[in-house]
Amino acid sequence: MSKHDIGLIGLAVMGQNLVMNMANKGFSVGVYNRTTETTHEFLQGLGSRPAGVVEPGAADRIQGYDTLQDFVSSLASPRRVMIMVKAGSPVDAVIDQLKPLLAPGDIIIDGGNADYVDTNRRHKQLAAEGFRFIGTGVSGGEEGALKGPSIMPGGHPEAWPFVKDVFQKISAKVGPNNDIPCCDWVGEAGAGHYVKMVHNGIEYGDMQLICEAYYILKYGVGLSNAELYEVFREWNEGELESYLIEITRDIFTVKDKETGADLVDLILDTAGQKGTGKWMSQHALDLGVPTTLITEAVFARCLSAQKDARVRAEAVLSGPDATFTGDRSQFVSDVRQALYASKLCSYAQGYVQLDAAAKEFGWKLQNGPIALLWRGGCIIRSRFLEDIKKAFDKNPTLENLLLDDFFRSAIEKAQPAWRRVVSTAIQLGLPVPGFSAALTYYDGYCRGRLPANLLQAQRDYFGAHTYERLDKPRGEKFHTDWIRER
Ligand code: NAP
Repeated sequence: MSKHDIGLIGLAVMGQNLVMNMANKGFSVGVYNRTTETTHEFLQGLGSRPAGVVEPGAADRIQGYDTLQDFVSSLASPRRVMIMVKAGSPVDAVIDQLKPLLAPGDIIIDGGNADYVDTNRRHKQLAAEGFRFIGTGVSGGEEGALKGPSIMPGGHPEAWPFVKDVFQKISAKVGPNNDIPCCDWVGEAGAGHYVKMVHNGIEYGDMQLICEAYYILKYGVGLSNAELYEVFREWNEGELESYLIEITRDIFTVKDKETGADLVDLILDTAGQKGTGKWMSQHALDLGVPTTLITEAVFARCLSAQKDARVRAEAVLSGPDATFTGDRSQFVSDVRQALYASKLCSYAQGYVQLDAAAKEFGWKLQNGPIALLWRGGCIIRSRFLEDIKKAFDKNPTLENLLLDDFFRSAIEKAQPAWRRVVSTAIQLGLPVPGFSAALTYYDGYCRGRLPANLLQAQRDYFGAHTYERLDKPRGEKFHTDWIRER
């Protein structure tokens, strides 16, 4: 057999599916897994996989190796080794085992859910040792890995031409002819994993907003699950059209096999999380950018996880004793607009954070093309991303998406409904942290004057932290002895 186009280490679900995807697209792939039985089982099972999973002839393009030495020797030069093992220290362990077997210029790709901080570190260290490292976000879960994920590669720019063909061929495709790959070079060092992290944070935000819309409509207005299905079906035909609205619509139709009840009503209201939303919020704090909606979405999951505490509190504490009395169909339309406007703020915040990170790390991120990477193969795919791309095409240095004409007028149109929804939720005692954080961000962002003048006076009063004045040049510091001046 001639040398393989690419090698992949880590044959759990993501690795297996990526390998089959690569072989289906005509690439020859060498594979290795720490536990060799897994490699053997995978290879043996290839023949019985249905067409569509393994295309005719694709199995012949996959070969397994029991030792890393044989695996590395089987790859064409410069060697391209993709690592799909558990994120964290296992990636470092695999890199350490690989390095003595590789030659300078070989390409190591980490396709797992790495923390961008680790990717920055690995990039720097491997570049110093003569290797070309790529850290790439791969989104879309198991199905995406097999049928076409969204791929967000970053790292050593010289490595990109060597992996571009494989990555773009296996990625999701969008566009009128279904030929625009959801994969392009993102930027240097940890940029790819950073963009994936922001994607995941935005996913947290989108999901939280949809859940708030559901909560108000179900527990405020009293819509049944059948009615909610209709609402989401209709929403999916307009500006909110997206994968997440579509699956939410379908969730309302699924019955529990055991009881016959709607399954969604039986699910414990305790959300899990794997941490990428939290990473984004943590870095927002480090950068000093207000990514409030996504952070509220993370906290909403944390509060949901305190189920027992909430049940205890419910028996002691109470909210308003109010019921919804307005026009139901008007309010459904209001909630749709509130969801759209809040979503817009969430993406605006996400892009502000991307810009701040790019500045911090010296990356040249292309905001418009990044929106296109998310149009297919991943959880946040939606119609809306096309509008974001257009906004950045018009102005590549757009400071905030909210300033783009299209989004500015969309928010203006949605604003009265958005305010009605937030105030109604507050009147009814229903928590809407996402909707209200978005609205508060909007109201703060578009105010030339905030109350921080008083805050600065307080800081100067108790800590002599000084302040600047509106009527003097910026940078000039003043201090007042507030006690004597009283
Ligand atoms: P996983 O469960 O995260 O990891 C299992 C794989 O890692 C196995 O191949 C295992 O080998 C290997 N491994 C663990 N520790 C190792 C070590 N110290 N040395 C060598 N190999 C080691 O697998 P996954 O779910 O397929 O995910 C792979 C990566 O993709 C992860 O970073 C994950 O976060 C990311 N990801 C997953 C999804 C998803 O939907 N699952 C979606 C997007 C991204 P053994 O068989 O020998 O134990």
